[in-house]
Amino acid sequence: MNATPYRLIVFGPPGVGKGTQSKLLSQELGIPHISTGDMLRSAVEDGTPVGRQAKEIMDAGHLVPDEVMIGIVRDVLTSPRVRNGFILDGFPRTPAQARALSALFRELGITNYRVLIFELEDDEIVRRLSHRVLCPREGTIFNEEIDGVVSGGACPNCGSPLVERRDDSAETVRQRLGVYHAQTEPVLHFFNAEGVAVRINARRSITEVHEQIRCLLQAPAR
Ligand code: AMP
Repeated sequence: MNATPYRLIVFGPPGVGKGTQSKLLSQELGIPHISTGDMLRSAVEDGTPVGRQAKEIMDAGHLVPDEVMIGIVRDVLTSPRVRNGFILDGFPRTPAQARALSALFRELGITNYRVLIFELEDDEIVRRLSHRVLCPREGTIFNEEIDGVVSGGACPNCGSPLVERRDDSAETVRQRLGVYHAQTEPVLHFFNAEGVAVRINARRSITEVHEQIRCLLQAPAR
């Protein structure tokens, strides 16, 4: 695309394809995909103090406390790895996180960032997540209906057994959607007021959504 550093925030409910699109963009633009959910899952796996605190909260589909998340994101955004841009996925998820991010951007002199708002109806999200499986080794996300894979079957790329995410059970997904509407959706007002939001129709195929984003990125950032 071009040489301006891309600073992107992908925003929207769980299961709309934010992770999939972020990975594609990360490869194409050569900038890191910073997923707070992935960071927490590896903290849980490694048994770190944050991981031990987050595990039960995540399994129940609730949000990890703001101060923990704000600390994690501050560490990443002040590190050299994001010098040439970043894709932030899963943060901010509350108005307090949005205010902290805005203050951090001001402190770091970041003015040109964009927010991609992924839109999809709840019923379609529930349907998609009931078929989501992933490769624990590569982190690649598959859909049983689209990709012809099954949970417990082999990853088409590396052969590792595919797994479901612990928080993708129907009950936890409904809980996560409830949390999204109650606690995360209000962040939209914040982005709209800042004039940095663009909307993505997440109902389309992976390739079509990717094309949509590429076109939007051609337009100059504020
Ligand atoms: P995700 O992979 O983005 O769906 O995140 C999985 C889970 O990690 C969420 O359901 C939350 O429990 C937790 N999490 C990730 N990001 C945040 C955040 N910014 N604030 C609070 N909890 C988070």
